[in-house]
Amino acid sequence: MISTGLDNYRRTLKEVFGYPDFRTGQEEVLTRLTDRDVMAVMPTGLGKSLCYVLPAISKGRTVVVSPLIALMRDQVQSLKAVGVRATFINSSLTRSAQNANYLDFIEGRTDLLYVAPERFANTRFVEGLRKAGVKLLAIDEAHCLSEWGHDFRPDYLTLGAVREALGRPRTLALTATAEPRVQDDILARLGIPNAARVVTSVDRPNLRLSVEHVSDLDRRRERVIELLTERKGQSGIVYARTRRMVEELAEALTGSGIPAEAYHAGLAMNRRDDVQHRFTIDEAQVIVATNAFGMGIDKPDVRFVVHFNMPGRVEAYYQQAGRAGRDGEPADCILLYGGHDIAAQRQFIERAHPDDADVRETWVSLVAAQAAGPESLDWTGRIDRNSDGFAAAIAALRASGLMDPGSFRLLSTKPDAAIDMTSIVEHRRYAEDRLAQMVEYAESVGCRREIVLRYFGEQPAASCDACDSCLGERQETEAEYPPELYDALLKLREKIARKASRAPYQVLESKTVQELATYRPHDRDELMETWGIGEVKADWFGERLVRAIRLWEDKNPDAPERQRRRSQRALSSSLAPEPEVDDSDPIYNQLRAWRTERAKIDGVPAYMVFSDRTLKELIAAQPDSREALMRVKGVGPAKIEKFGPDVLRLLRSEASNAVRA
Ligand SMILES: [Zn+2]
Repeated sequence: MISTGLDNYRRTLKEVFGYPDFRTGQEEVLTRLTDRDVMAVMPTGLGKSLCYVLPAISKGRTVVVSPLIALMRDQVQSLKAVGVRATFINSSLTRSAQNANYLDFIEGRTDLLYVAPERFANTRFVEGLRKAGVKLLAIDEAHCLSEWGHDFRPDYLTLGAVREALGRPRTLALTATAEPRVQDDILARLGIPNAARVVTSVDRPNLRLSVEHVSDLDRRRERVIELLTERKGQSGIVYARTRRMVEELAEALTGSGIPAEAYHAGLAMNRRDDVQHRFTIDEAQVIVATNAFGMGIDKPDVRFVVHFNMPGRVEAYYQQAGRAGRDGEPADCILLYGGHDIAAQRQFIERAHPDDADVRETWVSLVAAQAAGPESLDWTGRIDRNSDGFAAAIAALRASGLMDPGSFRLLSTKPDAAIDMTSIVEHRRYAEDRLAQMVEYAESVGCRREIVLRYFGEQPAASCDACDSCLGERQETEAEYPPELYDALLKLREKIARKASRAPYQVLESKTVQELATYRPHDRDELMETWGIGEVKADWFGERLVRAIRLWEDKNPDAPERQRRRSQRALSSSLAPEPEVDDSDPIYNQLRAWRTERAKIDGVPAYMVFSDRTLKELIAAQPDSREALMRVKGVGPAKIEKFGPDVLRLLRSEASNAVRA
């Protein structure tokens, strides 16, 4: 179908685009494509699009599916500028312009057609393309096909059926980031499980990766202003989680002399197009955006990407951060991170995983909607596809054999058909695991690039020399304490000092007060870990300190989570005596068996899961909640995310066994 003319492609590359040779991956994709379907996983900036543009020039009749409506015009214009006969169809065009572009393609006056996926809901449109004969179907941002991916889109769910309806043309799925599991899923959805996979390294040595721990949101905003002031005049993106945060940040930045434009899905389409366009042509230098911004952005000279919040998974983070430095010049990827980011992501996972009743409700409305008569490949417009749990519900219905795996076709009409929820449970576990890995990235004291590369299944070099850890530039965890608590503790210090006729600093040094306000010890043991507090002071007024802290916490239930110790805790736990647990203890052996299993699954040595000592601490502490786990020595947030549910379940079941026995 597609000629082997690599030399031909190379000539076109030189003559039309002015590139001397292929970049990593391109040549292999083009070669494989001559006799097979291909999935290409290539980082953005490596010229993915040439993998379908070159075949389009030489053979014509290439359809490119892309969700990036705002970008199509620019993409087509730049192709036209070098003489490629390209066109596009999406909702930004008038009906007659859409028609004209369609006919141009069908009748062979253009070679490459960009289409938004929702266009395929029209069966006549699909039929017309089939009759004209599609030589290559390219699916850009293919990770949108999989709900295991990080940007699932319901519009992509029918592409398997579309490919079928087009007569199974040669297919090329492209994405910048998809770990192996997502790759499998994409290919299954497209009905091309045996496609060749061309996966290039995700490593981008020019990106400097760093993380700063800033819990307080006001302080975080200040920090963003500082970071951007240092980078004034550079092109950059700031990502924030919510629309409101985006608006506020953009305003704060502009107010501080750094003109910044807000971008999120709540803005009108033409407004969004405008912001994106002005960013591309350098009229807008800084964009503050939700994750709605940036897919497919091809601006080479973005010098920094700052994350105001931590995303829920490494893929999402790395894809967004990777929009910096596409020109290969140094660029900064800075993640700001704090405890409530984890809470927010956990909530998000909660919402994305519907329970039995929710899934049943979706199923019943699908059955009713289908009874009303499907008139296109995608007739689900009548039900709420944007609800949080929709993707997971569809996956469960498909896994239960109630829905066609590649389309919205129902395979049953019984409202009370049995639904298997296993996939949702599994998916939830998967999402929790992804989150744990993201937390590990944020909290790690080791090389950050190593974590990213391992995540994508690559073997990293020893040191990257381009992350804050390797460069020795880690920002020390700053003292983050609520000022009111600090003040309250200062007052208490004065009271104690007056009564004892001593100077306040002789009672507690300021640094100790700061530590108390930061780590908020809840008991004597925790208090003893505070810098500057020993036995004498703990006995003397320790109880009053803890009471003051707890009182403040009761009055401020919305206060950010207290900071957790790292190094000091490790140090003090190595000094404290090990809890006494007999080696034949059944709980201990249960935990060890679980640890062996878990280490095998994760491909790490057992002690990386938990040390023997930590297992003993767990048995001694008998934690019954995440909160309680936090207080167990040797258990940090990353481990709680990853292993918390398992450990709690094991301890619980052992406890109930013990009661029964
Ligand atoms: Zn490094």
